[in-house]
Amino acid sequence: NCKNADDVMKAVKDYDVSFIQYWFLDILGTLKSFQITPNELEASFEEGMGFDGSSILGFCRIDESDMVAMPDPTTFQICSWRPSEKPVARMFCDVVNPDGSPFEADSRFVLKKVMGQAAEKGYTFYVGPELEFFLFADDQDTEILDAGGYFDAPPLDLGNNIRRDIIFALDAMGIQVEYSHHEVAPSQHEIDLRYQEGMKMADTAMTYRVVVKETARKHGCYATFMPKPIFGENGSGMHVHQSLFKNGKNVFYDASDEYHLSAEGKSYIAGILKHAPEFVAVTNQWVNSYKRLVPGYEAPVYIAWARRNRSALVRVPMYKPGKEAATRMELRCPDPAANPYLCFAVQLAAGLRGMEENYKLADPVEDDIFAMNDRQLKRNRIKALPGSLHEAAMNLKKSDFMKEVLGEHLHTALVENKIAEWDEYRTQVTEYELDKYLPIL
Ligand code: GLN
Ligand code: MG
Ligand code: MG
Ligand code: MG
Repeated sequence: NCKNADDVMKAVKDYDVSFIQYWFLDILGTLKSFQITPNELEASFEEGMGFDGSSILGFCRIDESDMVAMPDPTTFQICSWRPSEKPVARMFCDVVNPDGSPFEADSRFVLKKVMGQAAEKGYTFYVGPELEFFLFADDQDTEILDAGGYFDAPPLDLGNNIRRDIIFALDAMGIQVEYSHHEVAPSQHEIDLRYQEGMKMADTAMTYRVVVKETARKHGCYATFMPKPIFGENGSGMHVHQSLFKNGKNVFYDASDEYHLSAEGKSYIAGILKHAPEFVAVTNQWVNSYKRLVPGYEAPVYIAWARRNRSALVRVPMYKPGKEAATRMELRCPDPAANPYLCFAVQLAAGLRGMEENYKLADPVEDDIFAMNDRQLKRNRIKALPGSLHEAAMNLKKSDFMKEVLGEHLHTALVENKIAEWDEYRTQVTEYELDKYLPIL
């Protein structure tokens, strides 16, 4: 657990580290990495390491392409999936301009900025994501490894050895796991992490995706965080549990309220519900993400909150009702293929706005929303989430609030990228169309 550059330099010597990977993200949260040797370490803490920003998606144009990666010593860890002899370590980096100022489209910067706004009011933001994934034979098709379902144990659960190794590998990187289980769909799994402060958790989510994929590869199979790989089965979500603490107290908790929610907690949730249509292009950023957000698969479609109901967008879990530390809200739309930094940042920003402007929270909806017809939906004032990446991207484009949260550069780059993805997708002629139309038209 390094605190500063000196700690890192000492650890590199003590553990005989051979390379240090420098990690950062492009705007979609794709991991970017380069390796340095220990000789370069000291200088890089002072000056950072330069790279060509024009080759990183969404970063900058070729005429202003010099960017610098500044390693964050507090993120130094030995990579548990690499050989233990002459080990390899990694550090996350902040991306800065050559003059040392932060690069405003750096995902870590955006989350830091929003968490800073929370901190100004005395709030610490805690998150606990539930990252689901599938294990397939390889990355060519969706050949499943087992036919297990929710909480199935071996022999139906054939992923348990892989999950065990993933948990050991996470533990070796200082990442605490709470529990793991087979998920609802065949060959689908979940490993839940102990909640952490938001920035740390976004770094952890990135590491989790790498560790899961590397461990699956060692077992000769393929792990995917694709939101909806199999038609007719549950997709993979990343439910995000979140709460704010102030002076060691849970801001969302009020013992005397019928839902055990404080006024702040309620307006936070109202903020999330109100701004969800603007931010789903960030929490659900792929064409495929919207194939998961359909009725019937425990993924949300409608904008409402509930305590038990899993068809709602926001749930306030009732496992330990009235227990202060456990009081939190769960946003159920994000998927594990989101950029975790931006995903957490937009939720927090929406919640904070709800608190600042005292948004009123509607009553919870405990009935199955999937079973309601249009009239009932209307009577309950329940709106649907955007049904496609196109609709979501258009909402994002129109949102001045999201432009403010993401910064103009990132906002523009994201919208452009998502519309380009949609345009590429909408011109495809799919297997579905051929099967359906060719025999009859
Ligand atoms: N896989 C579901 C989703 O898409 C969640 C199922 C669950 O966690 N019970 O969000
Ligand atoms: Mg779960
Ligand atoms: Mg789950
Ligand atoms: Mg959940």
